[in-house]
Amino acid sequence: MTTDAVEAETTPLEERLISLIKLQGPITIADYMADALTHPHDGYYNTQQPIGVKGDFTTAPEISQVFGELIGLWLVEAWRGMGSPTEFNLIELGPGRGVLMEDILRAARLRPKFMEAAHLCFLETSGRLRVEQQKRLRASDMKPMWADEFADIPPAPSLIVANEFFDCLPIHQFQRVKDGWRERLVGLNANQTKLDFVLDETPPPETYGLPGADPSDPQSKEGDIFELSFAARDMTNEIGAILNEHGGHALIIDYGHRQSGMGDTFQALRNHQYWPPLASPGRADITAHVDFDAIARTAIDLGAAAHGPTTQGQFLERLGLNLRVEMLCKGKGAVQADEIRAGAYRIAAPDKMGEIFKVLCLSAPSLPAPAGFEDI
Ligand code: SAH
Repeated sequence: MTTDAVEAETTPLEERLISLIKLQGPITIADYMADALTHPHDGYYNTQQPIGVKGDFTTAPEISQVFGELIGLWLVEAWRGMGSPTEFNLIELGPGRGVLMEDILRAARLRPKFMEAAHLCFLETSGRLRVEQQKRLRASDMKPMWADEFADIPPAPSLIVANEFFDCLPIHQFQRVKDGWRERLVGLNANQTKLDFVLDETPPPETYGLPGADPSDPQSKEGDIFELSFAARDMTNEIGAILNEHGGHALIIDYGHRQSGMGDTFQALRNHQYWPPLASPGRADITAHVDFDAIARTAIDLGAAAHGPTTQGQFLERLGLNLRVEMLCKGKGAVQADEIRAGAYRIAAPDKMGEIFKVLCLSAPSLPAPAGFEDI
């Protein structure tokens, strides 16, 4: 199926947004994104089957079990580096179908004390996905708690994993005009029948800290787009505060650029194809590239440490990807062994997911540096 083959159908959410915009004027891209993804009745994650071959996109744990297993071993090592606390929170942000945690626990089970000490917590907005996560983890002895907000998780030493979670957090976009920046908003087309991008009439507040005032800021010219995620900043502040106060690490894995903020990365995927992000809200996955620099700076400003970002390929190789793959292939038939190797190639090769995906670790400043970030 391609975007040509699927007509962009009008959705209930689109109808409501059009009425709202007629009444109150344009809304921010962040508000649009939040509604389109997480609205309890009409949001994408609550109504669609997002992940996997039958869904709209595929994630690394869905491609290769080695991804989660290596992260499981990384978590055990990180826990030992924290002094093997007898109680800690093992938190996953946006666990999807629960596949990553299933693989993490399979590997971590080799250290029973880690398993005994872990309180499993999921931050998940989608009721549908919570049910899938629950089913998938039924076989393990873990009794997870589900949280709507990060603040609902009882504070404790924490190991946090977020794979393809930050890319769903709402972003704001700003466009460079002659005399500065204007926020890019979601308004209506000329005959008021469809959602369309419009520019705010007044400049954004100076407190947003958009580039330009400081000579070290990235250069911009008219028409350039700058992206900013207050949601990612708030989430990082909450994570950083827990790490500083109670100890621990947060492993953030996502696709993203290194030059902070510049460029238009607001995009949608439907049935594994690009889709216009303002068409049929609630039926397509909408994301933006993760600004790792901004996340690292926020955490460092708070007093936490940041390691990386490094590429996903390098990170996995440093954790022993090839060794693990060959161990798994042992005793398997040629076809199955080829499948295992092909999966590992897809998640780590630079021309697949290995380069565009990055890994950043935020840590309590007193802890030893986590594995996977040192230069080989
Ligand atoms: N980590 C999984 C799934 C990634 S998809 C994997 O690697 O396969 C994104 C996940 O984040 C989904 O589970 C989605 O429901 C959840 N999510 C998106 N926005 C969220 C929000 N604001 N709060 C909590 N969960 C969110």
